[in-house]
Amino acid sequence: MSVNRYTDDDFDYGYDIDDLDIDGDGQAEEHDKEMPRRPVKKRRRVKWDNIIILLTIVALSVLLVLLIRSFMNEQKDNNESLPAAASTADPQPTVSDKPQVQTTDESKMTEITTGNEPEPPKPAFPVETDITVVDGVTYINGILIINKTYGVPESYDPGVDPTAEAKLQEMYAAAADEGIILWTASGYRTYDYQKNLYDDYVARDGKEAADTYSARPGFSEHESGLTFDVCDPSSSFDNTKEAEWLKEHCAEYGFIIRYPEGKEDITGFMYESWHVRYVGEELAKIIMENDICLEEYFGITSEYADD
Ligand SMILES: [Zn+2]
Repeated sequence: MSVNRYTDDDFDYGYDIDDLDIDGDGQAEEHDKEMPRRPVKKRRRVKWDNIIILLTIVALSVLLVLLIRSFMNEQKDNNESLPAAASTADPQPTVSDKPQVQTTDESKMTEITTGNEPEPPKPAFPVETDITVVDGVTYINGILIINKTYGVPESYDPGVDPTAEAKLQEMYAAAADEGIILWTASGYRTYDYQKNLYDDYVARDGKEAADTYSARPGFSEHESGLTFDVCDPSSSFDNTKEAEWLKEHCAEYGFIIRYPEGKEDITGFMYESWHVRYVGEELAKIIMENDICLEEYFGITSEYADD
């Protein structure tokens, strides 16, 4: 860095630059004549310095962004390789509003690791819910809910739902065409009827046992008019050809096996191969095809408040 590139007009060096003897001839150097050109030269140099610094910053920023992105992709791939390796793991209900991004990442990941086709995205449960209570009766996304958490008042007395009854008869007719004879052992129950039934079970088996297979009055789905016990309401119905047909075809008519095997802790009731509930064909197919229960679909509990 040579001093005579700058003038004392530009910097305060603490001395007068015109007094400096740069070439050692014992005389101060002459600057005055060159002064008009120098500021221009200086500005250009400073400008180029700025541009080089700016370009360096930009280049470093781009490099940093690329490094961060590659690091994040690596992390993502590591995370996603877990469910792929353990393909039997339960699909965790995730609220995903960008399935395309996931698919891209998964396909990239499988290309690298296994070369397998990416699995189709699995539906996420529970779904978003809109809960409304009308005269003490709970509806979630328009579906009437009765379980151990959501009861109905003693005064609720809707009778058999005509749509559910019509679909039930349609299902029975279709079964009969295949030589399967189905009939209704128990359908609509009033609050009082359920109360007598439950009290009898408690007297016979005790409250704790009765609660596993019979609902307290106000908490029985039979009080909805949407529920039917088909044929023999006991475990001897399990695995019969009638029970197999019912499980296989009930969703086509809008019914679900309401208390599935293996879901006892979620529904609050033992497996009932004979107990069907009308929810409409669309919802019935989703629930039966995904082997979930109504509580899992809506993400709700089934527990008595005072237990
Ligand atoms: Zn039942």
